[in-house]
Amino acid sequence: MIIDSHCHFSEFGNLRETLRTALAHGVWGVVAVGCDAETNARTLAAAAAAPKSVWACLGFHPDWTQLTDEDLDLVAAQIAVHHSRIVGLGEVGLPWYSLEGRADAAALMARGRARLDRLLRLASRWDLPVALHAPHGAAVGALGALRAHGIERAVFHWHKAPADVTQAIVDAGYYVSVTPEVVYRDRDRELVAQVPLDALLVESDGPWQYGGEFEGLPSGPWFASRVAEEIAKLKQLPADDVIHQLSTNACRLFDLVWA
Ligand SMILES: [Zn+2]
Repeated sequence: MIIDSHCHFSEFGNLRETLRTALAHGVWGVVAVGCDAETNARTLAAAAAAPKSVWACLGFHPDWTQLTDEDLDLVAAQIAVHHSRIVGLGEVGLPWYSLEGRADAAALMARGRARLDRLLRLASRWDLPVALHAPHGAAVGALGALRAHGIERAVFHWHKAPADVTQAIVDAGYYVSVTPEVVYRDRDRELVAQVPLDALLVESDGPWQYGGEFEGLPSGPWFASRVAEEIAKLKQLPADDVIHQLSTNACRLFDLVWA
């Protein structure tokens, strides 16, 4: 049985039906992330409605540049109220895609770092793991931030970074997570080859739409089982062993209790 370690679960209309379809594909649990106060509230509601299969993280998306410092105040207040019933902070991190072509990119990155610092202080205060959005050139800065705050548990979601940065992330004891892109994209396949199985997680990032064999298919937590199967192929290990290890990794990171 698989855990989808990163899903925008509150975006799905019929939660029961979504969970049923996921279970039919061997996905029995979902770590649900938020991006702002509104999606966080819906994520909390989803986790409350399905406490045995949906675990909530509260987040503040670093690439949503329209979010203000007041929006961050709202999220910080949510975390303060709900810290005992969430399994982590996510997604949080550093901006990258939104900086493209911006003349004020350096200032936006500095603002993003200050915001991440505030969130990591909250993670540290309540001993919560962190699900990071820190793609490409943002990864090294996020790694530095984790170290500066003494954060021990973190995952770089939909990880993409130079090989030496990935190595430093793994050496520091953090996880990296792969999406369905691993089935059809060389960059992700090379990542899986580089990273030991005990540092990997699988995710759907649903309802994100994928290409390759997933083209036109409804996206959701069920994709996580296909990701696990592909990792088993790439690692040339029995699928059951790989699935067990990936689930153990997710439970360890988010401190999940097996149903
Ligand atoms: Zn996401």
